[in-house]
Amino acid sequence: MTDTHCPYCSLQCGMTLLRRGRSVLEVAAREFPVNEGALCRKGWTSTGLRGSRERLTTPLVRSRETGEWSVLTWDEALDLVASRLAALREEHGADANAVFGGGGLTNEKAYQLGKFARVALGTSRIDYNGRWCMSSAATAANQAFGLDRGLPFPLADVEQAEVVVLVGSNLAETMPPAARHLDRLRARGGRVVVVDPRRTPTADHADVFLQPVPGTDLALALGLLHLVDASGAVDESYVATRTTGFDAVRSTAAAWWPERVERITGVAAADLRSLATVLTSSKRVVVLTARGAEQHADGTATVLAWIDLALALGLPGRPYAGYGCLTGQGNGQGGREHGQKADQLPGYRMIDDPDARAHVASVWGVPPESLPGKGLSAYELLSAIGTPLGPRSLLVFGSNPVVSAPNATAVASRLRALDLLVVCDLVMSETAALADVVLPVTQWAEETGTMTNLEGRVVLRQQAVTPPAGVRSDLEVIAALAVRLGAASTWSTDPEEVFAELGLASAGGRADYAGITYARIREEDGVFWPCPSPSHPGTPRMFALSFPTTDGRARFVPVSYDGPAEPLDGTFDVHLTTGRVLAQYQSGAQTRRIRDLPDDGPFVELHPLLAVRLGARDGEPVTVTTRRGSLTAPARVVGTIRPDTVFVPFHWVGANRLTSDALDPSSRMPEFKVCACAVTVPALV
Ligand code: SF4
Repeated sequence: MTDTHCPYCSLQCGMTLLRRGRSVLEVAAREFPVNEGALCRKGWTSTGLRGSRERLTTPLVRSRETGEWSVLTWDEALDLVASRLAALREEHGADANAVFGGGGLTNEKAYQLGKFARVALGTSRIDYNGRWCMSSAATAANQAFGLDRGLPFPLADVEQAEVVVLVGSNLAETMPPAARHLDRLRARGGRVVVVDPRRTPTADHADVFLQPVPGTDLALALGLLHLVDASGAVDESYVATRTTGFDAVRSTAAAWWPERVERITGVAAADLRSLATVLTSSKRVVVLTARGAEQHADGTATVLAWIDLALALGLPGRPYAGYGCLTGQGNGQGGREHGQKADQLPGYRMIDDPDARAHVASVWGVPPESLPGKGLSAYELLSAIGTPLGPRSLLVFGSNPVVSAPNATAVASRLRALDLLVVCDLVMSETAALADVVLPVTQWAEETGTMTNLEGRVVLRQQAVTPPAGVRSDLEVIAALAVRLGAASTWSTDPEEVFAELGLASAGGRADYAGITYARIREEDGVFWPCPSPSHPGTPRMFALSFPTTDGRARFVPVSYDGPAEPLDGTFDVHLTTGRVLAQYQSGAQTRRIRDLPDDGPFVELHPLLAVRLGARDGEPVTVTTRRGSLTAPARVVGTIRPDTVFVPFHWVGANRLTSDALDPSSRMPEFKVCACAVTVPALV
């Protein structure tokens, strides 16, 4: 019996794995603050991949001439990869090699991967798929609060709020146990507000539901701030003592009267006024954003607009109130703290900060000047492949960009242009299928490591079963390659040792893990960062007295509304938005292979009015075409989506062949959540 956490989303539900015989594992839910003994069906079925015949158990190399795969021993595979990396570095310089990580990797792997890129490869080119997940919220929170921790309070605090506003979150499907906290809030008389272009299962349980045009959340927030200010409900005392910069934001919001907001968002001015009244008549309001608000070319500005609203109401730092981001991937929080990002070193330190470089270099035992500088963000990194100075090799850990990247056809073609593509994965994912070398690695129940959930709570996933013969951990792969490359520093394969080193590297940084140990996590069932010393209790709630900015105050940041990067026109006259379904997780590489989870494939959700205009019928194919590609899939005709919008889930190949690669100027987040499309009914043949 092993206490651990779910392999999937950022809730990191507590579960117990029970051994039945030598290798069969059963899941039992366990009491843990975020899930309280509940799991969603993904969690219940999470051991299903262990018995899959698709599990990889030996290194493979693919012939470029024939496309045939051949089996290699681990030594052969590691020697081959290391020698090719060394040769590319020798011939083209260190930046010829690149690393692509994932927001599902443990903290230890994320840390070791960042160190491997900078020390063993000497490359600046490392980034990860979390750039596509919540980077706009992270950038906005850093600008406004001086720190990015998804939720600066425990999730259960929302039960004590009077109002929770969910902007672009469908948590009833993406993290169902979290909905229990909202149910309790409502049972106590609190209200839930949902802002979403689709009336999702989350919206079905909302007290207030606003259904704006995709990509217009920013205008909605400005309109609410306008009404809050006009009604005299700005918390002037809070603004004066705990913030800076309100005058410029107030002046911007003055131009966002409700009728203007209605024209842009499609939300009736009367509904906007009603919501403003709800907000101004409540003291304990929690504003939560998720991918719907964040995955835009103006995602950072959109999140800032909602933070500005929260600050004007005096919420952040108050008990049972504030702003937070509902992170998506399992280690969406920790994955961005330990050096996987192109511009960051462990401890959430900026890579161009000389003090940060000196500190981390001292832990790694290398000269600070040997560390490369800032690299390219995830999509820019992939786009640079095939350009004269672009990467010639890519090592992929815990990611499947052929399915999850925006403009995915172009990304797949970039990957084919590499001299060397190496993928570490459990199964032959769509990205692994393009690789030159595939290295089979352990999965969560077969290894130990920490994750940091959406609350900033560091939890421990414990090994419950031995991995299949022939499989190695990512830490073993990284260490073996580092040694073959003659890298300086030490390369432990023991997760607990790596975590201790991570603690040293993070000490004094914004995400300080120095006081957290495996023993403490076991004893306390999770520890909140920052936790700078063994005697420190951890920090469940932040910002009560001050913000971690130079003057201790939060910053209002003025924003302007530009709208989606692709406005509708005569050809592409419908908005396309993408998202998730209950039974699948991310690119589906794991969940599509679990027998007990329904795998219905992609579909196109559209409104009956649009279906009538097109002549589309429920269950029959429709084709969605954007400037980047097209997808034909069965129609699902539902009255819950806006008539000007279609929705396609992205867990399968297809949706992201359509999505836009317009990037947010600050976070470099692509605009997954809206682009212009044409919808047609294919001709019968
Ligand atoms: Fe919990 Fe998320 Fe796992 Fe579902 S997928 S059991 S919500 S951690």
